[in-house]
Amino acid sequence: MNSMLMCPCGLSQPYSQCCEPLHTQHLMADSAEQLMRSRYAAFVMGEIDYIVQTTVPAQQHLLDVKAITAWSQQNQWLGLTIVSSQPNLKPHHAKVEFIARFRDQQGEQQHHELSSFVQAGSRWYFLDPTVEPMPTLKSVCLCGSGQKFKRCCAPFLGLTS
Ligand SMILES: [Zn+2]
Ligand SMILES: [Zn+2]
Repeated sequence: MNSMLMCPCGLSQPYSQCCEPLHTQHLMADSAEQLMRSRYAAFVMGEIDYIVQTTVPAQQHLLDVKAITAWSQQNQWLGLTIVSSQPNLKPHHAKVEFIARFRDQQGEQQHHELSSFVQAGSRWYFLDPTVEPMPTLKSVCLCGSGQKFKRCCAPFLGLTS
């Protein structure tokens, strides 16, 4: 791979000094925003293992890896814009709003999302709101905090009113 290749995540740095060390597990994302950027770059680079590994551990075995792989390949990825970042939501949560632009068979598309992230141990993970089944509200949270789901990650996934 060309070491001067620009990283697709939008930071205007060579891939080898930006998201590649994260994709190869030499470094860990130190913020939810960095994790978000590196996950977008992983879609572009076809690093699907990284998409799985950076989803909260309790959801990893529930991910449809084939569908994720297909989606990453079907689209031509055009760029990522971080709209806003809320890095310090309690407890150990963050939200990142972003727009990912891509081209599919219908033309140019924008995927606009407000994503939730949780810090477990020293690592940040993506909370996937689309993965089924979710824990019940009274069961232990999927992030491993030991708290009940409803007092921990559920509100960030919009699952409590
Ligand atoms: Zn990058
Ligand atoms: Zn949690």
